[in-house]
Amino acid sequence: MSARKDIREELKGYQEIKKEMEICQKYGRDYRTQRGLKAAIIDRLHPRQLELTVSEIIPENANTKTLRLTASGRALPPFLPGQYISVTVQIDGVRTSRPYSISSSPTQTAYYDITVGRVKDGFVSNYLLDEVKAGDTLITSGPLGNFYYNPLFHGTKLVFLAGGTGITPFMSMIRTFTDQNLDLDLLLLYGCRSVKDALFLQELKERAERHPNFKFELVLSEPDPDDQGRTGLIDANVIKELVDDIGGSTFYICGPSAMQKFCTGQLESLGVRRRSIRREAFTSPNDVFYDPAWPKNVSPDQPVILTVQRPSGETVTIQTQAGEPVLTALEKAGLTIPNACRTGECSLCRIKMTAGEVFQPSTALVRQSDRLLGYIHSCRAYPLTDLTLVIQ
Ligand SMILES: Cc1cc2nc3c(=O)[nH]c(=O)nc-3n(C[C@H](O)[C@H](O)[C@H](O)COP(=O)(O)OP(=O)(O)OC[C@H]3O[C@@H](n4cnc5c(N)ncnc54)[C@H](O)[C@@H]3O)c2cc1C
Repeated sequence: MSARKDIREELKGYQEIKKEMEICQKYGRDYRTQRGLKAAIIDRLHPRQLELTVSEIIPENANTKTLRLTASGRALPPFLPGQYISVTVQIDGVRTSRPYSISSSPTQTAYYDITVGRVKDGFVSNYLLDEVKAGDTLITSGPLGNFYYNPLFHGTKLVFLAGGTGITPFMSMIRTFTDQNLDLDLLLLYGCRSVKDALFLQELKERAERHPNFKFELVLSEPDPDDQGRTGLIDANVIKELVDDIGGSTFYICGPSAMQKFCTGQLESLGVRRRSIRREAFTSPNDVFYDPAWPKNVSPDQPVILTVQRPSGETVTIQTQAGEPVLTALEKAGLTIPNACRTGECSLCRIKMTAGEVFQPSTALVRQSDRLLGYIHSCRAYPLTDLTLVIQ
């Protein structure tokens, strides 16, 4: 066999680079000794996966608990208040994940708190609330998401509109900004059914007493007879009455999709520009049926078949229905693909569709090029017909 020809000598500029390398090795720093160092630092700051221990479970109300997650005494990766982690679990043989906002403050690095509310018939929330115990291990992503305060663009007057468990990213922000004594005006309008459903109420009261720049108001939609507080929804009237400088404030909305849509409309009716509204929706897979664009002739329980080509070349056939997101159907069939937000935004669950038609709500941020080339965000893609998919 003839020896392989070294073509490097023929490359333009090779001699100069070779000489520079020799000089660096002789007189300067030999950067080869640092190989892998940067990757290790990046991985510590932005890990793909964390193995965390549930150190404590704190009941918040009848249907909500905070799970405190630690990393065996090590410092956790930093995050910005408002970000979330994706928690992966294995339930009845199905491996799946859900995003949960970190409710604790990044000013301490010993733990992440996630505060989980029970969702009726919810697969993961009920598991986390009923099955997970202190001492258990949970696999999570590192911190992710774009729902955070950016001092360059968001000014100093922040108005938080929270619905139900949507208080969690705001709790992290309020804890952080008040602990750090930042020069910000903070107003929280917190929409709940009744006082007993309001999370972190005592802490919110104490922080409001200690920090004159933080105010909050409960807005109760179904108050109990003894409940004190404003009743109704967080609508334009409430906002107009409580926000001093509507045009000069940045609004953050977090809660169920319906609340997010409603509050966005109310803000727009007050002339608030879209760029002053930041949003995070705790979307549920069946919200899509209320989407006016959902095709009226397709019933959510219409049966469909997914034919999935795996990297091994093997083909898997999955029976599912139009109302089930493709990602959920894949997970139920034992096929896992990366995912994080499950709202169609982060694009980690993007896969190729070579045949068929899906419904993707406008909130799924699918690039035009992906639409043209047949890529879908599988967490928010609903199969309207039989599909052929390719997963890597
Ligand atoms: C960025 C982000 C942060 C979040 N942070 C928090 C947080 O801090 N706290 C918190 O409690 N939640 C949070 N959530 C919501 C959380 O991720 C889960 O969506 C929530 O816990 C429900 O998950 P589940 O598995 O229990 O419910 P799912 O099993 O996902 O079901 C949700 C609902 O959809 C219905 N459903 C499911 N599948 C179907 C189907 N095929 N057809 C019809 N209906 C169906 C169920 O009956 C149920 O009512 C966050 C969401 C996002 C996007």
